[in-house]
Amino acid sequence: MVSEDDLSELEQELMGLNEKEQRQKINEFVKTLPKEELAKLQMQQCVFCLLSQGKIKAYKIYENDKFLAVLDINPANIGHVLLFPKKHYQYLSLLSDKDVSEMFMIANNISKVLVQELKAQGVNLYLASGNAAGQKVNHISLNIIPRFENDGIEFAWNMKKASEQDLEQIKTLIASKLAIKKEVVLEVSLEPKKENSNQIKKPQFKIEKRIP
Ligand SMILES: [Zn+2]
Repeated sequence: MVSEDDLSELEQELMGLNEKEQRQKINEFVKTLPKEELAKLQMQQCVFCLLSQGKIKAYKIYENDKFLAVLDINPANIGHVLLFPKKHYQYLSLLSDKDVSEMFMIANNISKVLVQELKAQGVNLYLASGNAAGQKVNHISLNIIPRFENDGIEFAWNMKKASEQDLEQIKTLIASKLAIKKEVVLEVSLEPKKENSNQIKKPQFKIEKRIP
């Protein structure tokens, strides 16, 4: 726990320091905090947590027990929506599969409404998971950005060259980890038998033939 004494000691130390030194001192202090304490502090400062708790004004457009969608107050385009879990998670990978699919279903519904009501001609879903990916707030959020022709928004990167060898190597590495899911998603369809519909039957799996 951070005690009042710790804080007043820090306050004393900060006095007389310039801004840069103050920042350094605060960073040092933060590093001494136990992990749980740090997580608590981060949540108290997190804008998405504050929005979820109703502590700052939100232009809510959708809400359920787990997710909240608000209008971005500094939008890339009018109608720019931020959709996020109410609970504080930094990375998308920390959400359950069920929650990830729910989040994308909600995003898809919002996108449809943006197209219908704002006459958007396209929609971008932008998500940054991790600071290296450009995540600014450590609470996962999905940007839903309605797009219009020549609206000046760019998602740009410089294309790099990849050798055939690199591509093969990366493909082998990644595809082998995804093999099971790939089988289920792409090759198998669920087809319950129609006869004896009053009896509870196990669903039948059928391997679909590839169409050449
Ligand atoms: Zn948060």
